Parts: sequence; C-alpha cells; structure tokens
Amino acid sequence: MTQQHITEDSIVLCPICKRGKIIIEEKDADDVPLQLILPGSKRKARWYIKCNVCKSQIGITVKKQ
Ligand SMILES: [Zn+2]
Repeated sequence: MTQQHITEDSIVLCPICKRGKIIIEEKDADDVPLQLILPGSKRKARWYIKCNVCKSQIGITVKKQ
C-alpha cells in the first residue's frame, strides 16, 4: 500500500484561471521537473492536459536543466 501525502502546495493550479487543479506534484521525486506551456505559446509541448474549470489546454514539457 502506498501512502500519498497531498498538501495544498503540491497541487499545481491552472495558470489561466488559477482555479482548476491540473496536476499533483511530488516535490521530493527525483524526476525532472515539469514545465507548463500556456496556450498560444510558440513552444510545442509533448503532453497536453485540459483544465476542467476553464477548459484551457495546457501543455506540459520537461524543464530543461
Ligand atoms: Zn483553468
């Protein structure tokens, strides 16, 4: 059984409406941090998620170190 510790600051809110909870982030993870790409940005994202509050399509890519 895995235990999840979800706190308020581990929830990434939608950058458009600041209300939709789009990702839950584990800050202690060893993986490369993600970066959000806003709609209309020239940068192409590998993954997209949809905010369930404002329906914006937010891109996700890995943050370049
Ligand atoms: Zn939103």
